[in-house]
Amino acid sequence: MADDAGQRGGTPRGVESGVDPERECLIHTKLKAGSMKLYELERELAPMDAIRLRRDFIRKETGSPLENVGLFSIGVERVVRRNCENMIGAIQVPLGVAGPVQIKGEYAQGSFYLPLATTEGALIASVNRGCGAITRAGGAEVRVLHDGMTRAPVFAARNVIHAKEVADWVGGHREELRVAAERTTSHGKLTDMVTFVAGTSVFVRLEFDTKDAMGMNMVTIASAKVADLVAAGTGARLIALSGNMCTDKKPAAINSIMGRGRSVVAGIALSHEQIAQILKTDAKTIAEVNSRKNLIGSARAGAMGFNAHAANVVAAIFIACGQDAAHAIDGSTCITTVDMTDTGAYVAVTLPSLPVGTVGGGTGVDTQHECLQMLGVAGSGSPAGANAKKLAEIVAAGVLAGELSLLGALAAQHLARAHQQLGRG
Ligand code: NAP
Repeated sequence: MADDAGQRGGTPRGVESGVDPERECLIHTKLKAGSMKLYELERELAPMDAIRLRRDFIRKETGSPLENVGLFSIGVERVVRRNCENMIGAIQVPLGVAGPVQIKGEYAQGSFYLPLATTEGALIASVNRGCGAITRAGGAEVRVLHDGMTRAPVFAARNVIHAKEVADWVGGHREELRVAAERTTSHGKLTDMVTFVAGTSVFVRLEFDTKDAMGMNMVTIASAKVADLVAAGTGARLIALSGNMCTDKKPAAINSIMGRGRSVVAGIALSHEQIAQILKTDAKTIAEVNSRKNLIGSARAGAMGFNAHAANVVAAIFIACGQDAAHAIDGSTCITTVDMTDTGAYVAVTLPSLPVGTVGGGTGVDTQHECLQMLGVAGSGSPAGANAKKLAEIVAAGVLAGELSLLGALAAQHLARAHQQLGRG
């Protein structure tokens, strides 16, 4: 297989201008000697040439053929500038669909096929079964409860009296701080700021409506402006723009309690007949599995997530749709509840922290963009923010499908059998 083919099975996007073999040899010698860095290749070469030479260098250094990572169709001009430094190729993750699933959201209304990128056998089949149950029961009811991406700079005060003064100063200058923050963005709105003191450390948790962006870059830039004003106005030292009370990419109770990104809830009323026919169990057994596993088991384990496998669905949709995959950790804090009703059961998932966006980040990478298009959420919404909220609702419905199916499989004692049939080579 020719390593320099560059692409296969798609429309070639990046054009290799072709590098003179002598020049290639010289560049390789420089890389080997360390007089040229791997990240400097794009300064001298077109992106596709830089990617191929870098891959070639790594292949020689490591002895790995790297034949398949060199085959891709995504356009690289933007990717090497905005998404991936030192690019050598692309990883292909199998992409499947679950659905259609009927959704009755404020933003997502209708029938959707869910794109899921995964290597976990049985996951898509499981979500698909849940989608069927939801659709037959009339569609998932979904609502966005709260919307706010956060950044929390940390400042050092001189003593605890000064720490309180810093917190008070922030409270007294909210409008001035808001105006300064919003000057850095044409879309973001500073919607809240909450201060926390721990000894001489003062944290200012800034919350923004980021419209259709997931918003981490946006709020980081805006927060830098706020942090400078706080330091100048109070004499407190800015220690770090991110003081971990944000909290980004770590499991944190503050995100579960106050929300971060989009907070979403999805629910479905299932009749006794539907539970029996589709999930092969009954309402009482599902409720008991949920209580003893998702609630009591998670509490006993000290888990921050009270669900069966919400992160599975969040990660698979996030990878497919160009979301920041590290934020699957936020999805894992989902709480799944089952209420017994006269007619059957009401199953719901609450996702307090779901950082999603339909512009920026990885959403513009060609394959990921296509998945967003499948859901009708690629790019800016009308009004701005509508697409990201719609995506959040769709993800929540997908998580509900996954929870329903796994709870059903556990209740019917089918889990091991399904994995044996679908997940083993
Ligand atoms: P971004 O790639 O910086 O793009 C977002 C920008 O798109 C917005 O700031 C906005 O510009 C513009 N925009 C255009 N149409 C918009 C619309 N309809 N709604 C909202 N904004 C619109 O993306 P981001 O979402 O701010 O950040 C996501 C990236 O941050 C991901 O790649 C993620 O991996 C990375 N990340 C960064 C940090 C960090 O600390 N910086 C931490 C974690 C992750 P204006 O602001 O000019 O209006």
